[in-house]
Amino acid sequence: MRVRPSQAAIAGGVALNLLLLLLFWRRGAPPPSWCRGPRAAPGVTVVLFAAESAEPADTLGTSRSFAALPVPVLLLAEVAPYPPLPLPAGVSLLRLRPALEGPPSRPELHVRTRHVALVPDGARAVPGLLERMRDVLEAGDGDDGGDGDNKLRVVAAPVGAEPPRCRELRVDARGWTVWYGPPVPPGDGCGALEGPSVLLLRTRDLFSLPLPLAQPAPAALFIQAAARRWRLRVLPAPFPLALRPPLSPHDGWKAADLAQKRRRRLMAELGVKREALADGADRWYGCTKATPRCFGTVHARTPQYLVAGRWTPPCCLRALRETARHVVAVLEGSGVRYWLEGGTLLGAVRLGDIIPWDYDVDLGIYREDVGKCRWLAAAAAGTPVEDPEGFYWEKAPEGEFYRVHFSRANRLHVDLWPFYARGGTMTKDTWLGHPQDVEFPERFLRPREPLPFGGFTAMAPNSPRRFLELKFGAGAVENPEYPNPAVRSLRDERGGARGRGGGIGWDTLWGDNKPCDTR
Ligand code: ZN
Ligand code: MG
Repeated sequence: MRVRPSQAAIAGGVALNLLLLLLFWRRGAPPPSWCRGPRAAPGVTVVLFAAESAEPADTLGTSRSFAALPVPVLLLAEVAPYPPLPLPAGVSLLRLRPALEGPPSRPELHVRTRHVALVPDGARAVPGLLERMRDVLEAGDGDDGGDGDNKLRVVAAPVGAEPPRCRELRVDARGWTVWYGPPVPPGDGCGALEGPSVLLLRTRDLFSLPLPLAQPAPAALFIQAAARRWRLRVLPAPFPLALRPPLSPHDGWKAADLAQKRRRRLMAELGVKREALADGADRWYGCTKATPRCFGTVHARTPQYLVAGRWTPPCCLRALRETARHVVAVLEGSGVRYWLEGGTLLGAVRLGDIIPWDYDVDLGIYREDVGKCRWLAAAAAGTPVEDPEGFYWEKAPEGEFYRVHFSRANRLHVDLWPFYARGGTMTKDTWLGHPQDVEFPERFLRPREPLPFGGFTAMAPNSPRRFLELKFGAGAVENPEYPNPAVRSLRDERGGARGRGGGIGWDTLWGDNKPCDTR
């Protein structure tokens, strides 16, 4: 067979291409497309959120003031402002909500400088102040300017004449909770700044956050920074706040309503159900009597949140305690003999409360006492009933036991397991096949003994430790473990390994995901 020179050239070209392809393939995947943008230039970009049409705003005044410094100003809006704003030179508008026929909104491609400053509406520029903030950030902490965990990443400056007020801020992602401490001097352990402020950080740090441009911007940044133990430094020098006429009562109400809606949305996106304030008060974002339970049907005794590396949402623990306290009061008032059962008793003995990853409360009752309580009697007769306090009593569809829900809508519940004595042994008619679901000698109930549980006192079997070892095996009290270690195991989690269910761990949810270097 003759090979012509042109055929040889084509074959050679194909071979070379294959070789190159193989070479690049072996070197690993190319960097994500957003890493391949132009290298960041020195300077600071001012990022400003356009007010919604309902809000009285100073969008133009603020952007004009900073654009005149001059620095690039990026104005972000969910939808393009209407009527259109006459934007000054140096101000560009970016729509965050992409249009059906347009490209995706990629704000990280629109900041071309190494540093970025989030500026609140109404602030006025001060020549040189953004540069000073940047220099403080880049000088670091002196003793810890390296790549340590605790590196200075955010520099703040107040807006307006009010002196800045700092609070400590701690994030417990697994417990869905953000804790605010008492006021601290700016600089040391400051996690959150009250009042309007300009927040300056490295562009690559901002866009390494899961929610870089969520609103309200300060709360979003403070919480995400605290979850990464980023340090925040506050400069005393303020940016002036533009004088604005006072709001009418109606506009004031509208602005407060919008602020609250934004905060609720932010907390939902961050997975925060409770903000615990320094004075002991709480702001709740979780389930209530009027909303569904925070988590869906539990499969294999492992609720959804556990698979995601979190524990029971605090709103759910609170609702479970409230339901348990109510049920215990009703049972005691009607003379039904009950006792703390299973994992609920385990929690009572271990810590006087619900186990922090448990999803229900279990009580045993004497079956012959069911008729003494009108709600239980109604449930037994097949009529679910809502009691005057809004708790919902029904017979469980799964078998011969009862369930009291937090409300008709919110199915957080207490299970009531009817036992009866047979020859000195307590037994029942429905067994769900859980290892701890076993018969026990009636002497554990003669007499019952009171135990503190979830902020009240409930009756428990006597010798509760022996009772628990009979049900769960030796060492059950001292060795905490999730309900179904085959799906998700606390021991594996503590040993650093992920659960066998392939869940997402704490550090995956909140970890410092290192982006490519855009400097
Ligand atoms: Zn809840
Ligand atoms: Mg249980």
